[in-house]
Amino acid sequence: MDLKGMRVAVIGGGIGGMAAATALALRGGDVHVFEQAPALEEVGAGLQISANGQAVLAALGVELTGVSGSAGTEIQDGRTGRKVAFVPAPSAGPTWYVHRADLLGALLVCAEKAGVSTVLDRLVTPGTIQADLIVAADGGQSIWRSTVDGPCSPRFTGQVAWRALVPAEAGQEAAAPSTLSMGSRAHVVTYPLRAAQLMNLVAVEERSSWSEEGWRQQGDVDEFRARFSDFKGPAGEIIARVETVHLWALHLRPVARHWWRDNIALLGDAAHPTLPFMAQGACMALEDAWVLADALSRSDDLAASLALYQRMRQKRAEQVVALARGNAMRFHLPRPWSWGAQAVLSVGAGALARRLDWVYDYDATQVL
Ligand SMILES: Cc1cc2nc3c(=O)[nH]c(=O)nc-3n(C[C@H](O)[C@H](O)[C@H](O)COP(=O)(O)OP(=O)(O)OC[C@H]3O[C@@H](n4cnc5c(N)ncnc54)[C@H](O)[C@@H]3O)c2cc1C
Repeated sequence: MDLKGMRVAVIGGGIGGMAAATALALRGGDVHVFEQAPALEEVGAGLQISANGQAVLAALGVELTGVSGSAGTEIQDGRTGRKVAFVPAPSAGPTWYVHRADLLGALLVCAEKAGVSTVLDRLVTPGTIQADLIVAADGGQSIWRSTVDGPCSPRFTGQVAWRALVPAEAGQEAAAPSTLSMGSRAHVVTYPLRAAQLMNLVAVEERSSWSEEGWRQQGDVDEFRARFSDFKGPAGEIIARVETVHLWALHLRPVARHWWRDNIALLGDAAHPTLPFMAQGACMALEDAWVLADALSRSDDLAASLALYQRMRQKRAEQVVALARGNAMRFHLPRPWSWGAQAVLSVGAGALARRLDWVYDYDATQVL
């Protein structure tokens, strides 16, 4: 179907929403993005964009500067700083380290070039907007999801992610491996950003108390350092240099059973919120964006196109979300189980990595 003249409202100007808006506008849609925030901005933090996400960015024409490709992941025992294993970059190609704000900025440039208009400071609720197609890309706490898929309550996972950026030390390589330091009921991921000017840190700990779900909760640096004081090696050195830290409580919601209803389609975290332990949430939102636009351009029947979109996306999203959930447990094994896991990793990290190739070599631009 030629999307020319199709009036599309995209709810949410995050990575998923802006990518969907661009993909739909490139096919002729008359696309308007509605974002509740007064400015289009992402938190100061990094993202890993693997080959599957890169394929969509390339197809959309997104140009990113200051991006480096990871050489792989070094797994360390956080308690000693000792290297346990090296997981090579995926066969599909190196994963990029990207600053979130840079990615959103580059997507915005493409969206504007494709004719997308953006309305800021506008929280849009179900029933208050008219369009031929409504794309609900309103994130993990989506208020549109219940209209499409019924009620769904979040469950606190008992895990909290601390996030920080610190200036990189002189000599830091831009394409260095990311590090995953595994501690007891905690882990820390680090990688360089913006041509190695910055180091990105995500530190996850287990907690019994509930913490508010949301991005921008400022954390207490002393509390953060005290909690992760037993991390040695490179992770410990970066932790010691953190001056500002944010907290994010990790919540679980199942992947939606219904991704569309009438003329509304769910996309990105709104359809499949995921824990961050596969670094795939934004990549999957990019994949959704391309497949949705592709599915719509294949038929004049909106319902058939939206059904095709769900069919193409749901199973993959469920599989990736399940992997991330499994890692939540694997990364936090207490001793002595962690010794067994480390022994397995030290001899078989390469083979384990190859078993994940299906995640990274998926090319959403070629699936239909
Ligand atoms: C610690 C951590 C690390 C991560 N690392 C990675 C990684 O390395 N790689 C990766 O691929 N993914 C990663 N992710 C996941 C990734 O951040 C998300 O999956 C991705 O940002 C989801 O994009 P989205 O556009 O679907 O939703 P969001 O980014 O949440 O955007 C939703 C937008 O909608 C707006 N909005 C909400 N409701 C309304 C409304 N009613 N009206 C108007 N606007 C509205 C919001 O203000 C927001 O701008 C990570 C996540 C976390 C927590």
